[in-house]
Amino acid sequence: MKVSNMLLSTLREVPAEAETTSHQLMLRAGLIRKLAAGVYSFLPLGHRVLNKVENIIREEMNAEGAQEVLMSALLPAEAYQASGRWEVFGSDMFRLKDRNDRDFCLGPTHEEIFTDTVKACVKSYRQLPLTLYQIQTKYRDERRPRFGVMRSREFIMKDAYSFDMSQEGLDLSYEKMYRAYCKAFDRMNLDYIVVDADSGAMGGSGSQEFMVKSDTGEDTIAYCPACSYAANVEKAECIPEKMEKEAPKPMAKIHTPHAGTIEELVAFLNTDSKHFAKTILYQAGEKVVAVMVRGDREINEVKLINHLGINEQDLELASADTVVNVTNAAVGFAGPVGLSVPVIVDKEVMEMTNFIVGANETDYHFENVNVTDFTPAAVIDVRTIVEGDVCPKCGQPIKTTQGVEVGHIFKLGTKYTDALGCTYLDESGKPQSMIMGCYGIGVSRTIAAVIEQFSDENGIVWPVSVAPYQVLVVPVSMREEAQVKLADDIYEKLRAQGIEVLLDDRDERVGVKFKDADLIGIPVRITVGKKAGENIVEYKLRAGGEVIEISSDDAVCQAVKFIKDSLSSNK
Ligand code: ATP
Ligand code: MG
Repeated sequence: MKVSNMLLSTLREVPAEAETTSHQLMLRAGLIRKLAAGVYSFLPLGHRVLNKVENIIREEMNAEGAQEVLMSALLPAEAYQASGRWEVFGSDMFRLKDRNDRDFCLGPTHEEIFTDTVKACVKSYRQLPLTLYQIQTKYRDERRPRFGVMRSREFIMKDAYSFDMSQEGLDLSYEKMYRAYCKAFDRMNLDYIVVDADSGAMGGSGSQEFMVKSDTGEDTIAYCPACSYAANVEKAECIPEKMEKEAPKPMAKIHTPHAGTIEELVAFLNTDSKHFAKTILYQAGEKVVAVMVRGDREINEVKLINHLGINEQDLELASADTVVNVTNAAVGFAGPVGLSVPVIVDKEVMEMTNFIVGANETDYHFENVNVTDFTPAAVIDVRTIVEGDVCPKCGQPIKTTQGVEVGHIFKLGTKYTDALGCTYLDESGKPQSMIMGCYGIGVSRTIAAVIEQFSDENGIVWPVSVAPYQVLVVPVSMREEAQVKLADDIYEKLRAQGIEVLLDDRDERVGVKFKDADLIGIPVRITVGKKAGENIVEYKLRAGGEVIEISSDDAVCQAVKFIKDSLSSNK
């Protein structure tokens, strides 16, 4: 492709709305263009990268025997109503009505539609097992679309669904997808980690997420450097810290004026937040519940949701009015003693003795409280793991890091097949529910994740496997005939060898061309300058390579070898 014929719109300025490196660079390199919050168009360079990523995923899915299909994004409501997710998705779902007032949505994910399709097409055990997938546009009206295609409202997902007859069959289908994902992400050179994930709300027996390590990641991962344990902090099990137990002292009310936060209390009483237990009120649907964790801990809302068996959007912090009504005190003085709503207590609180809690009276706390002074509705693990906690597997200290969730694999079980009556006839002619797995990759998000890991201060540094073009040929001056001719010659030779080449034939200053070259991050740059008459060119790798002067034929050979070697090294 010649740059003069191409839609290339690079920006020198960092767009104000873009906070993350990948978002900035995708806009600056002209890969995407924003249409509305969380809605983007892919421009030519971005579209080429998208195709590369899709094809890598497609090849690895096919290699594991999955079959590609394409479902509509415009979906009738019925299947989602049958599964209950018409309600569960709440305002995350884009809904619309047709001219006859029938309900439709734009598909946020397709479990129901695949289940319905397999129900219609598969009758007998002879047709199973089966894994189907698609690469398709999904719609979710995210509460906080941000970071460009990282969290958008329209995005491209590879979603796959397996249908098996036994748990062992599901385990095998899951293994295959695990393998396909590892191979696909390896081919993109991504540094990722596979973590145990929460499977609460979706039901099912197990799930793992593929996390690309990045400071901008919205997920926090707990991992153990000593053993193989790694989990999303939403899921990671917390082991209570052992605390020295004192003999119980009598509970007493203390005056703590204006000390309604842990920080204020710590300052006022000149003690450690570990000696407090905080009591937080939540609105869980119609109900109000209180949750208690040690003063220095955070409540894990995912664990709470799973315990309560409610939908994510049905949990929120209780309003100030509710807190005042329930505790008869100002916000900040809630405590478990004598509280009228159920108190869910974190396991670790059971290790505490003679601790401080709110007294349900403005400006008062109780000290020397013990777990015998109130009645928990439940004692569960309801806090979030932090660095330094012990590993639930081996007991060594846990570390945490940020990650971008690029993929999610999930053993679903029969939730959808039961709800939609997706059965097969077994060998004895008896109907049985199929056992499902589902497997997603955020295709557009993966592009952003690649850029988070492969960029420098000048722009993107594409791994060869996903680069929009593999080699860039830059004539320094379009007014020098020898340069134009040699650049063209190199361009044609590379094309003849199947290399994807971009020729920057714009009549621009070379500084501009080099800035764009670095920004769009093509792996190999061949510059044709003053020595064109002697057939000498400059060869440079975008990934930190030195500029070397070589003959134009050597440059062609070296580029071809580099591209082919890079493409085969991760296969
Ligand atoms: P998240 O927790 O990030 O919202 P999710 O758990 O809702 O993700 P899934 O329903 O498992 O995601 O979707 C499969 C994959 O689709 C995710 O692993 C992620 O890579 C991608 N994905 C999900 N939501 C978005 C989005 N709003 N924008 C871009 N990609 C997304
Ligand atoms: Mg989500």
